[in-house]
Amino acid sequence: MKKLRRRNVYESSALVYYMGERKERRLTSEQKHILKEKGTEPAFTGKYWNHHEAGVYYCAGCGMPLFNSTTKFDSGTGWPSFFAPADTKAIKENEDKILLMKRVEAKCAKCDGHLGHIFTDGPKPTGLRYCINSAALEFKKKSAPEKKR
Ligand SMILES: [Zn+2]
Repeated sequence: MKKLRRRNVYESSALVYYMGERKERRLTSEQKHILKEKGTEPAFTGKYWNHHEAGVYYCAGCGMPLFNSTTKFDSGTGWPSFFAPADTKAIKENEDKILLMKRVEAKCAKCDGHLGHIFTDGPKPTGLRYCINSAALEFKKKSAPEKKR
């Protein structure tokens, strides 16, 4: 009896581990680097810095809606920039001190993934600039229902 039970515990934790691995695998190594290791993609290289379609930007890590295209603006920095999140609860702020510089880190409130940084030189009405890595985002068009081509 005892042996059997132990084995079951082992098997279920192995399954959780396995499922976790599978979930991880859906991310590219660049996405993992940014979301989990607070990486930053080089400016002007991401897929969304010069992207102007109407829709919603979701967290690449967990699918949480993070930003609406209506709050996206051209900051000239080479990273997708927004002046407000889709929902005040979507983004977690975290003070981040690197090389004597104080920055506010933007994290996904759901999965804790690193998204980018928040600066206070953005446009009206908020004056904020959410400087986000393209690789941390997954864009979906507004009025396009799940169509596969
Ligand atoms: Zn997330």
